[in-house]
Amino acid sequence: MGAKPAIAPDEYWNPRHETMPRAEITAIQVAKMRRQLAYAWERSPFHRRRWEAAGFEPGQFRSLDDLRRIPPMTRAEWMEAQAAHPPYGDLPAAPPEVAIRLHTTSGTTGRMPLRALDGMRDWEWIAEMWCHGFHAFGVRPSDTVFFAFSYASFIGFWGAHYACEKLGALVIPSGSLPTDTRVKLIVENGATTVCATPTYVLRLAQVAREMGVDLRKAGKVERILLSGEPSGSVPAVRRKIEEEWGAPCGDSAGMTEIGTIMMFECRHRPGGMHIIEDHFIEEVLDPESGEPVGPGEKGERVVTSFGRGILPLVRYRTRDLVCRVPASSCTCGRTFDLYQGGILGRVDDMHKIRGTNVYPRAVEAIVREHALVEEFQIVLWREKDRDEITVRCELPKGSEDHWPSIRTALDHDLAEAHENLRFQLELAEPGTLPRFELKAKRLVDKRTY
Ligand SMILES: [Zn+2]
Repeated sequence: MGAKPAIAPDEYWNPRHETMPRAEITAIQVAKMRRQLAYAWERSPFHRRRWEAAGFEPGQFRSLDDLRRIPPMTRAEWMEAQAAHPPYGDLPAAPPEVAIRLHTTSGTTGRMPLRALDGMRDWEWIAEMWCHGFHAFGVRPSDTVFFAFSYASFIGFWGAHYACEKLGALVIPSGSLPTDTRVKLIVENGATTVCATPTYVLRLAQVAREMGVDLRKAGKVERILLSGEPSGSVPAVRRKIEEEWGAPCGDSAGMTEIGTIMMFECRHRPGGMHIIEDHFIEEVLDPESGEPVGPGEKGERVVTSFGRGILPLVRYRTRDLVCRVPASSCTCGRTFDLYQGGILGRVDDMHKIRGTNVYPRAVEAIVREHALVEEFQIVLWREKDRDEITVRCELPKGSEDHWPSIRTALDHDLAEAHENLRFQLELAEPGTLPRFELKAKRLVDKRTY
């Protein structure tokens, strides 16, 4: 925030589309939707079957008001289709021969992994979407971009890697290298941009400190690009990252289901992310009733994505909680609306503890106010019939003296933010809490039902 930064001559990746009047954005969305509906009706048995059952056919779609005629799709339906027609289900609108790569979600929790096939054109589009975000936060051909990412079956930053090549930047991949080697590479190669999840960016800083490397002085990092976790938009997490690195961080958000990002933070940093509206239709619905909510109100993101030829998504219920605000809330001149505060959590992330709603992201926002807390964990457990919640915090070796005051502050702030629900607080031994590179899992639910 602060003083209004000027609009740079090369502010936008796609100057015409990113500054289009609303009527033109709508016209593009309607045109793309009509084409997508006809394509999916013809080629995706999954879509056709569900639309026919709901009495919908593509000719009924004439304006955005007709979106509500199309039945929303869920991940559960997609997974059922995969199980019924293994391995890819009947959603794909093109045969596997067209694909050049398979990515999957981890499926570690016993859930079936989501299997996503992409062709050459899909990858071109995936990179193009990431370019919006990297360019908007200042990445240019003269930059050196370091990816702290294990290139494997999770799609994660694969598209971001190609985007940086497309932008003309120098890319340094780091595969499965250990964290200290990554720190060395960042410093030795003078990386100007580091790209990772918020959790892992903090982990890099922690290891750098242990190695005696002051990232603010030793390296040339000018910006951090985040994605993969909602905490990239939590102010206290961002402050901690920016203090450790001495560089601003910009957030972006995507999902395996669409293969790329659908929103990004620009360098004006309005406290939210712009939706790439010429490539996606984003709706915000009440998760219970399925009715649209107004601007500035929280609801569930429902996405239609136009760029993936093999996997055309139409009104996909993401379970992400968001709050949409108009483009005018940012000073950059883009006409793309924003999600204020990024992804605010997941519809399913809410835990009820003795009648009070607890969202892990809200707990994280409070815990991260204390810069000394290096890692933390939320444990839900049950004592007789009473639900309990414990937050375990880890401080660096030798800082135990600070725990009583941090504990007092957390005790007060957590209760105040949760209708006086009392949280138990515990100091964990240094180095005992799990560390994460991707998708941190800091909540452990030990209750048995
Ligand atoms: Zn902006």
